[in-house]
Amino acid sequence: MTAITLAAPLAGWAMPLTEVPDPAFAQGLVGTGMAIDPTVNELRSPCDGVVLSVHRARHACTVRTASGAEVLLHLGVDTVGLNGEGFTAHVQDGQSVKTGDRLISFDMDLVGSRAQSLVSMMVVVNDGYTVDGQSVDREIAAGDAAMTVHGGSGADAAPTPAAAPVESGETAERTVPLRIAHGLHARPAAALVAAAKAHPGTVSILCRDRSANAKSVVALMGLGTALGDRLTIRATGPGAQGVVESIAGLIDSGLGDPVVEGVAAPAPAPAATPAPAQPAAEEDIGPPFAPGEEALLKGTIAVPGQAVGSVVRRFRSGVRVTEQGAGPEVEEPRLHQALERVISRLADSAKRMPDHAAIFQAHREILDDPELLDSALTDIRAGKSAEWAWQRTAQMQADALAGLADPRMAERAADLRDLEQQVLTALSGKEPSAGLADLPAGTIVLADEILPSDLAGVPAGRLAGIGMAHGGPTSHAVILAAALGVPTVVALGRQAERVPDGAPVVLDGNRGELLVFPPEDMLATTRTAVAARAARREENRRTSREDCRMADGTRIEVFANLGRVSDAPGAVVEGAEGCGLLRTEFLFLERQSAPTEDEQYQQYQQIADALEGRPLVIRTLDVGGDKPLSYLPLPKEENPVLGLRGVRVGLREPELLRAQIRAILRVKPAGICRIMVPMIASPSELLAVRTMVDEERARLGRAEPIELGAMIEVPAAALIADRIGAVADFLSIGTNDLTQYVLAMDRGNPHVAAQLDALHPGVLRLIRLAVMGAKTHDRVVAVCGGSASDPMAAPLLIGLGVTELSATPAVIADLKAFIRTLRLEDCRRVAEAALGTDSAAEVRRLVAETWPGL
Ligand code: PEP
Ligand code: MG
Repeated sequence: MTAITLAAPLAGWAMPLTEVPDPAFAQGLVGTGMAIDPTVNELRSPCDGVVLSVHRARHACTVRTASGAEVLLHLGVDTVGLNGEGFTAHVQDGQSVKTGDRLISFDMDLVGSRAQSLVSMMVVVNDGYTVDGQSVDREIAAGDAAMTVHGGSGADAAPTPAAAPVESGETAERTVPLRIAHGLHARPAAALVAAAKAHPGTVSILCRDRSANAKSVVALMGLGTALGDRLTIRATGPGAQGVVESIAGLIDSGLGDPVVEGVAAPAPAPAATPAPAQPAAEEDIGPPFAPGEEALLKGTIAVPGQAVGSVVRRFRSGVRVTEQGAGPEVEEPRLHQALERVISRLADSAKRMPDHAAIFQAHREILDDPELLDSALTDIRAGKSAEWAWQRTAQMQADALAGLADPRMAERAADLRDLEQQVLTALSGKEPSAGLADLPAGTIVLADEILPSDLAGVPAGRLAGIGMAHGGPTSHAVILAAALGVPTVVALGRQAERVPDGAPVVLDGNRGELLVFPPEDMLATTRTAVAARAARREENRRTSREDCRMADGTRIEVFANLGRVSDAPGAVVEGAEGCGLLRTEFLFLERQSAPTEDEQYQQYQQIADALEGRPLVIRTLDVGGDKPLSYLPLPKEENPVLGLRGVRVGLREPELLRAQIRAILRVKPAGICRIMVPMIASPSELLAVRTMVDEERARLGRAEPIELGAMIEVPAAALIADRIGAVADFLSIGTNDLTQYVLAMDRGNPHVAAQLDALHPGVLRLIRLAVMGAKTHDRVVAVCGGSASDPMAAPLLIGLGVTELSATPAVIADLKAFIRTLRLEDCRRVAEAALGTDSAAEVRRLVAETWPGL
């Protein structure tokens, strides 16, 4: 047992918790400690330790001491409702801090006028610790000894272990919506913990694939729940059903916070029988569709085109697990054999994919962990099945790791969840699913969501179509699908899970639909249409290598967007006049470390060679947002798409950017490459990159200048394109990001996928502003976002003054053929009219009326 003195985190009037104007804290439900009515606006760490979590609303933060005590510091009463307004966090989850380090500063006037009280609490929230010696009822200075914490076992103490398993077969589970505005913040979390602690067995709360021990306030707060989230309450041990029901009732009544009406009330309780342990509560989506049962699922267009084929499902598996085993003599060897099978598959995978060997080695190490095996064997010896024992062990460990706030540990938790599934699959005797690259040609894949990594090794022509239950139309996986020419529909919803393996379907990427078990004549008509389209494209390919001129002779350049070396030769065949966007981040993804300067140089040179003298616009690394890099740990951000992305990362990690610049500068012949910088918001960012380019050019002794362009993706950049044009050699509009930021719609969010349309007149007006700004300096304006590949957008973009389109290779031949039929005068007239409409739908109608063949 150790004792640690906590320093006062604030100066002010110190008081006992009982005087706090918040019943949950006053009654000690959140934890034991004291409070301070502050006279200063900075919260400082009361001890040396690690920041476990900073609340989303930045009004609270938890620090874990070396002895394992979790100290919650909560600024003011009812401050969660400010949603961060008035608070500035100076630390991040997982950061080590020393006593006195600044944690959060706050605007006393704003918070004081909007919150119920500024009285701030310091409480120890985890079990196994006692607090005494509170220095209260006096003025206290920040840093003064404030109270003493006893308990824990010294510097190496582990976080509180999960509750020991209870020797009872009873397990219960129920899912309810959370109907309180600010999620599980301190007060409701404390009310939930109080109910959970009355239960002798384990109680956890699962939300959005994360799980927390319901007996820990910090763990519950760390779930980051929000209004409308569905919480699954899972309990084990005698009386599990009762505790689940009572917690469900508490959650439904708001846990002491006002209930927001309009959020669905919970479904009626299931029959009160002990339920087998299951991976997650599932909403009932209905039985699989049966042959003859024609079903039309509506989604959102992501990659246009139609496909006919049979379905291969790639939904995350929902393995059913029974708790009772056939006895240790049967279950133990089953588990050992399953583990051996997984280990030998890992070794095979490492051999097949040496670039990823480190990942497989890390998985192997986890499987070799004796604690993991011991824990599962203990359950098996208590009569459980190998599946139940393995799943419980893996989930418990994963939850513990996920709760550690260190991003590397969180990655390990993801590894464990992956291994949980792999071992369960091995126990079921099934073979693991083949990767998408190994599927038979002509397959239509249906999945929750396809990741860029899933498509990385898929050869062109292999997949006929992709349907995703979730996802957005301009996500990076969709960009890869477009490059492969695979019609794709996203946001189909969970009904997509009802489509059985092998079902014949028509995937209509032009309408955003999936037709399941269609009638024979419909299959035949679509096959004919697909063949006719392929024939038309073949025809268009015959002239696609020629320059693209409109019917009135106006020259429009049509370039290709590329993401990997192997895309380049095909793009030339399709008629690309160069590469207008090389998304270099695809060369950086799926690796254990950044590619070296030499590796990058070789890839860029190979692409330049494949383009046979055509221009190559290389975009500097655009990671962050939905393209994280495991070896480039960026701070955990609440809103990464509005955070460290694109050039912001490059300027923060200058060595990474400089290596990339050097690699580009080395490509021969010297005039072939241009550098393009993503996510520019101000000229100063481009100037900072230009300085780096000039310095690296001098270091390499390269005399020839290189063109440096800015991407216009941030609305501010479009608005000040005249200022950016003054320092950029060219501009290229990234309509994917520009649209998401102008419309305030996350490009990966299925709920807004249908409205995320780059033809919205608001987006078009910004494009016009960008073009006008660039023209003041005679700069070329290109479009390299998704709308450059959309035939409906082409006349509008040209009408607005864009002279270069960089499209996905698969559409170039058709696009050039269409542009050749257009007249600038018509394009200008329709673009002008489009600017005066109210919606993207109206714009599309206008284009369809003018060019009915589209
Ligand atoms: C864009 O945002 O339109 C763009 C071309 O960049 P990315 O899609 O790679 O973010
Ligand atoms: Mg972008």
